[in-house]
Amino acid sequence: MNAERRPVRVRIAPSPTGPFHAGGARTALYNWLFARHHGGNFIVRVEDTDRKRYSRAAEADMLDSLRWLGLEWDEGPEVGGPYSPYVQSLRAEIHREQAHALVESGHAYKCFCTPERLEALRREQRLRKQNVGYDRHCRDLSPREQETRARAGLPYVIRLKMPLEGTTVVPDLIRGEIMFENARLEDAVLLKSDGFPTYHLANIVDDHLMKISHVMRGDEWVPSTPMHLAMYAAFGWELPAFAHLPIILSPSGKGKMSKRKIVTADGKEYPVMVREFRHAGYLPEAMINILARTGWSYDDHTELFSRQELIERFSLEAVNSAPAAFSYDKLLWMNGIYIRQLGPEELAGRCLPFLQEAGLVADPCPPEAWAQLLRVIPLFRERLHTLKDITEQAGYFFVQGITYPEPQALLGKGLDTATTRLGLDQVRQRLTSLPDFTATTLEGALRSLAAELGWKTGQLFMPIRVAVTGRTISPGLFETLVALGRERTLERLGRAIAELDRMGEV
Ligand code: GLU
Repeated sequence: MNAERRPVRVRIAPSPTGPFHAGGARTALYNWLFARHHGGNFIVRVEDTDRKRYSRAAEADMLDSLRWLGLEWDEGPEVGGPYSPYVQSLRAEIHREQAHALVESGHAYKCFCTPERLEALRREQRLRKQNVGYDRHCRDLSPREQETRARAGLPYVIRLKMPLEGTTVVPDLIRGEIMFENARLEDAVLLKSDGFPTYHLANIVDDHLMKISHVMRGDEWVPSTPMHLAMYAAFGWELPAFAHLPIILSPSGKGKMSKRKIVTADGKEYPVMVREFRHAGYLPEAMINILARTGWSYDDHTELFSRQELIERFSLEAVNSAPAAFSYDKLLWMNGIYIRQLGPEELAGRCLPFLQEAGLVADPCPPEAWAQLLRVIPLFRERLHTLKDITEQAGYFFVQGITYPEPQALLGKGLDTATTRLGLDQVRQRLTSLPDFTATTLEGALRSLAAELGWKTGQLFMPIRVAVTGRTISPGLFETLVALGRERTLERLGRAIAELDRMGEV
């Protein structure tokens, strides 16, 4: 059966050695979209055969990241499935058997070369400026000789017999046909001397047993693919289709997207791991959108896609074969758009953990704080770029006292301390006696007060704004006062007056 006509079963197969990177997330997304588009299955397989680099935390981080992005898997860790287990270290016995089967059938051989011999070989090759690689020293040992040495307890690895001449053509759905000269390819190790499979063996055996139809992965794996084809041929197994995704470039387009978070001198953070994006206040909706658009396009102008639209429109043909640059600017723009699509309760719920993290709201959230948050959210909805912005922009709603790091900002433009104090005192009296505390009533009262004082409105409004928020920038003044409530507004005006008194004394 042609791979493209098999039931669609795709997988991501991360090696959990460090936190889950945006690049891995994009690979996961494209596989997930492909599966959902074709009504197929999306599988997660943990490739943890490199026990020295394995990290349990990294495995948990990978699964958390997928869950946060909403890329639920049909088979894999935690959910199980018909080809369990989906963790390779639990499948080592299967891999071992398959490696030995290839030795039996003459497609692979036991290699007894010692690490010392291999090291000496490499040194010599480097000295002679030759390609560094295994010289196939053990390839022609007779089966009997292999058997004798193995019985004698000599440690060995199992290597694949690569074709010695001709070319291997890798058919790739994104890059077309990629040619390799067989003579330049090594006899790769399939089974290590500790009896554990290498990535190559475990990956091919499991893709076959799990009936993977399409292998979609980063293109750093292109050089390994001819060897994978040789293994499929040796086993006599049907090939999956291959699609190698181009790398993601850094925003400048120069070089690969960093593996480490970048913090610039002015404190700006450029996250690279999924969890860093999450902690920086990006929405999974925006992450999905930007990752989809980094390497795939639908037409020459559409940027925003809902998850459903992506499922409907995604195709491998439209994945660009040239690497795409990651755009933090575009992500920030998308994030603002998705924030504004959320209902007030939903947005409040997503902002809450950031306020808690900043110590502004207790955990669990007390009912009064939640009610305050619901009053505040509509004021900031248009102003947030990230969820985390709420802590910086709206923090003053959640603190008890308020401080004035720059008391001079309390002064009305062109007014001295005493005059400003007098104005704020009048404000306090007016607000105390207002029949209600709505934006309309407040606006009427404060505008007429400014007129009575003979001040420009700004001369009165700015001191009030600074008095209640501690800042010179805030959402609309009257809405801000309403959200703060009469009692806290009056209390803060009192503080500001006390501050002005202190300033007047010096
Ligand atoms: N374990 C490999 C990785 O971490 C999987 C590559 C593949 O998808 O074949 O990238």
